[in-house]
Amino acid sequence: MSKVKKKIKTIKIDVDKCNGCRACEVICSAFHANPKYSSNNPERSRIRLIRHPIKDVYLPVYAGEYAGAECMGRDKYVIDGREYDECGFCRASCPSRKLFKEPDSGLPLKCDMCEGEEEPLCVKWCINDALVCEEREEEEEEEVKPGDVEIGVESMVDKYGLQKVMDAVARMSRKD
Ligand code: SF4
Ligand code: SF4
Repeated sequence: MSKVKKKIKTIKIDVDKCNGCRACEVICSAFHANPKYSSNNPERSRIRLIRHPIKDVYLPVYAGEYAGAECMGRDKYVIDGREYDECGFCRASCPSRKLFKEPDSGLPLKCDMCEGEEEPLCVKWCINDALVCEEREEEEEEEVKPGDVEIGVESMVDKYGLQKVMDAVARMSRKD
């Protein structure tokens, strides 16, 4: 495999600076609406706030990889006396919860760092500087990663089975 230089973007989250305003959820869902900015719905956002105002818990979590099966264990964090939700830090779109799934279709959502934008929009809109984007260059083995379409199809196959998905595609292609 050949080596390639890649720009790695990291979003540093300072939980202590987050006041739970949810501006990040609003802009992310608006940016990914179709057409762009035509609507906003936090349930379609690729960043979600785990909120417990009474316990003063505001935890921004980014949507990560799609997981076809839920894992066997659970975790729970207590940091500085604040207890976070079970699996609160987990970024996976997995069958154990509704988080990071398109509300209508159930398709998995994943942060794409606002592809095409100079700066991630959630970072730009966070006036409390709880989200800070850092960029660095790294040399990596070149690998072909599955795109959004492949991940979406995989999740549909997990849900309905390969035959039903193939039948639906065949029906749709006959309509064209
Ligand atoms: S915009 Fe910033 S302060 Fe507001 S909820 Fe998101 S991370 Fe927290
Ligand atoms: S970087 Fe972009 S896609 Fe990712 S959570 Fe922030 S606004 Fe959404």
